[in-house]
Amino acid sequence: MNFKKSRKIFTHIDCDSFFAECEILKNPKLKGKYVLVWTEIVTACNYKCKDLWIKVTMPIWQAKEILWDKGIFLEWDYNFYSHISNKMMEYLKENTLKTEPFSIDEAFCEITGLPELNKLSLEDYIKKLQKDVINHIWIPVSIWVSTTRIKAKIFSKLNKPNWYYIDLWESKELYKLLPLSIVPFIWKSKQEFLKYKCKNVYDFIKSGFFYLKKSLWKTSTDLWLELSGVNAFVVRKNPESKSMSRWRSFNKNITNNKEFLHKQLIENFNYLFQEFSHKNYKCNKVSIFFRDKEKETHIYNYCWTKKVFERQELLKVVEYLFSKNYSTNMLCRSTGLVFAWLEKNINIQLNIFENINKKQNSNKQLFSVINQINNKYKSNKISFGTDLLGKEFGSKLGIRK
Ligand SMILES: [Mg+2]
Repeated sequence: MNFKKSRKIFTHIDCDSFFAECEILKNPKLKGKYVLVWTEIVTACNYKCKDLWIKVTMPIWQAKEILWDKGIFLEWDYNFYSHISNKMMEYLKENTLKTEPFSIDEAFCEITGLPELNKLSLEDYIKKLQKDVINHIWIPVSIWVSTTRIKAKIFSKLNKPNWYYIDLWESKELYKLLPLSIVPFIWKSKQEFLKYKCKNVYDFIKSGFFYLKKSLWKTSTDLWLELSGVNAFVVRKNPESKSMSRWRSFNKNITNNKEFLHKQLIENFNYLFQEFSHKNYKCNKVSIFFRDKEKETHIYNYCWTKKVFERQELLKVVEYLFSKNYSTNMLCRSTGLVFAWLEKNINIQLNIFENINKKQNSNKQLFSVINQINNKYKSNKISFGTDLLGKEFGSKLGIRK
């Protein structure tokens, strides 16, 4: 079978240690220090930490053991990261032929013909693009270039930070050096399935289109085509998540203390609601969960027949689930919550003949002011405060340190 080889040029642009670099941008005094962003695991860390073998997804206590008091541990600031991400995506959209965001800090961009238009060699154009993006967002980025998106993407684990690499061909020798795990969408189970036949990217291509079509899944043939230099990969447009969650563990303080567990849950709620409202979502289902001493997870759900987006309504249910399901017999190591069955909250129409709930409107206004202030100062300086003992479901404006 003859496939039409790509004559396009794609770049895969990826920010280096994105969350950690955003924190350094926000506070330049952190430069040169060991910076980590965490939830209950390491979510991001700068290269100084990576030099000490600290890895993303490492439990936080392990990172603390390595760094002792040298580490700067920061909680993630979603609003600021998405502000920088939007800034980069907008810049790329204006300056390349087509930009397809792939995650918060990476995108595929088509640049076919742009080097010639700028009277530059491909290498000089890439160097210039990299420099321009860095000057625009002040975050280091790496760029990989090839004739298909996946070919550009597989080089992204070769070297970092602040790096670029151009490979327009399917070089056998290089592909033999790349493990199969470097190819996106070939998850562990598929790697296991292929382990005797394919040890590296070269073996994967050699296994052939029809072998993969017969024995594997649809995406694998698209990946095979992409790695063979044929454009076949489609980036889903703005994939929306179906649920969002937030949790925090306190492994070293396993407890059944009601006040402590409630406080943890509400803090998680406040963080999650900030992201939920920033993304303009509504949902049908809220779950809270506790992970007990034996690492068993206990989940309690509440579903609405309508979509819900008001903070008070959501909080009321979280409080209800907590008070109904809390038990002194349960020693917990973590707690958290999930907002599920999400949808974009696009057309909020208020019927003028209905008695509009004033409280809901004032809450909406208050939240928009908080968002404006946080956006202006690029930090979550202000958030809703909550009565932590749950005597009252009302909220009041609280200022975090
Ligand atoms: Mg990255």
